[in-house]
Amino acid sequence: EERPVILSVQGVVARYGPVEAIRQIDLAVHEGEVVALIGANGAGKSTTLSSISGLVRPAAGTILLRGEPIAGLPPQTIMRKGISHVVEGRGIFTQLSVLENLQLGAYARDDRAAVRETLATLLDRFPRLAERKDQNAGTLSGGEQQMLAIARALISRPKLLLLDEPSMGLAPTIVETVFDLIRDINRNGTAILLVEQNATLALQMADHAYVMANGRIVAAGDPETLGASDETLRAYLGG
Ligand code: ATP
Repeated sequence: EERPVILSVQGVVARYGPVEAIRQIDLAVHEGEVVALIGANGAGKSTTLSSISGLVRPAAGTILLRGEPIAGLPPQTIMRKGISHVVEGRGIFTQLSVLENLQLGAYARDDRAAVRETLATLLDRFPRLAERKDQNAGTLSGGEQQMLAIARALISRPKLLLLDEPSMGLAPTIVETVFDLIRDINRNGTAILLVEQNATLALQMADHAYVMANGRIVAAGDPETLGASDETLRAYLGG
C-alpha cells in the first residue's frame, strides 16, 4: 500500500463543553481510498468528521491535508482546500429548489464558468435530479435528497469526501443505489472517509477501516479481517 497519504489526523481531541466527544484520534486516508469509520451511537464518528471539515474546532491535535495543517481553519477555507462534508441528515435546504441547493455547493468556487460546467456534468450524471431541478428539495424522496447532498458536495470538486451515514433512513434498494454512486465517485479518484451505522455495508466497500467506541479508535485494519472478527463487531457495535 504505497499510495501517498491525503489526510492525516493525529491526536485530535474535541469537546462539547464538558463532554469529551473524541479523545486522541489518529487516522489516515490515502489517495484514492475508501476508509470506513464505524462504531456504535455516540462513539464520536460525526464529531471526527466535523473536526476534519472545520464544523467543530478541535481542542488539540494535528490534521494534515496533503501535509498542510488545517486543524481549526474555518469550514469554508477547508472546503476550498479540497474537503467536502455531507453531514448526517444531509443538510439540504428543503425550501430551495434542487438547482439552488446545488448552486450553494459552489459558494467556495470563484470560477463561475467552471462551476456552470461542473453543474452541467452533475445534472448529466444525476438525471433524477435534472428532471427535478426546479422542484423544492423538500419534495424529493429520501434517496433523492441523499443524492442531492452528495451531488452538492461534489461541485467543489473535492479531493476528499466526508460522508456521514449516507444509508440513514433509506430503503435497502435505495441504499444500494447510493452506495453504487459512492463507489463510482471513488473510482473517479476521490478519496472517501465514510461514517456508517451499517458496518457490513461500509466494510464491504472500504479499503481500510477504523472502529470507534467512547471517543477512541479501538480497532483498525483490513475490512475483511475486521468484519470477520465477530467479537470486535459485537463488542463495539452492539450487533
Ligand atoms: P451517531 O451515530 O449517534 O451520530 P457518533 O458516533 O457520530 O454517533 P457523535 O455524534 O460524534 O457520535 O457524538 C459523540 C458524543 O458527543 C456523544 O456523547 C454526543 O452526545 C456528544 N455530542 C455530539 N454533538 C454534541 C453537541 N452539539 N453538543 C453536546 N454534545 C454533543
